Amino acid sequence: MKLTRKSLAVKLSKIIGFRQSDIGLEQYMTDSEIAADVLWHAYQKGDIQDKTVADFGAGTGILGIGALLLGAKKVFFVEMDEPTIAILKENLEGFENHIILCANVNDFFQDVDTILQNPPFGTKTKHADRAFIMKAITVAKVVYSFHKTTTTEYIRNLVNQYDFETTMQMDFSFPIKKSMPQHKKKVVKIEVSCLRFEHK
Ligand code: SAH
Repeated sequence: MKLTRKSLAVKLSKIIGFRQSDIGLEQYMTDSEIAADVLWHAYQKGDIQDKTVADFGAGTGILGIGALLLGAKKVFFVEMDEPTIAILKENLEGFENHIILCANVNDFFQDVDTILQNPPFGTKTKHADRAFIMKAITVAKVVYSFHKTTTTEYIRNLVNQYDFETTMQMDFSFPIKKSMPQHKKKVVKIEVSCLRFEHK
């Protein structure tokens, strides 16, 4: 059966999320509808099918699994948190063409076609997302990267200095379920954007 954007979103909604969020690592799962929007766009751009993809800070795998569902040749899942890797493995049962690396993204040295990443936004560790970007642009020519909308201007300028241009920005309101003690509301929303940047 050929996948549609809708059936992709339904499949992604079944992926198991984090059991308990780790504040220091800023673990938030990407909402399945948002992941489907970005993945579908990437698929239509020709960045997924038959491509080698890496999912940086893979978490429980939603972005990389979406890539596998859309026909990626191979997906590297790079995640440094061991308890999260256990859930990721569960989510990947039955899938082929993937490699799970329990590692810091800084230690990834494989050239790939496309990076998908929803990195920590740097709320807890300053510039955490900057390290992801700097690594991504050294190993791939096309990068899809989520950031706080307020920081996108900074990111655009940053990648521009390294001969990457931002070719797309999708803006979302990110629903974050109450998972941390300091959250008072059940669901908080933050403005998040996904940027696509490509080597010039
Ligand atoms: N990509 C997933 C998870 C996003 S949360 C999703 O979209 O749902 C960010 C993830 O990055 C967390 O799982 C966290 O453990 C991981 N992480 C944070 N810093 C990392 C680093 N330096 N190297 C590898 N993984 C990292």
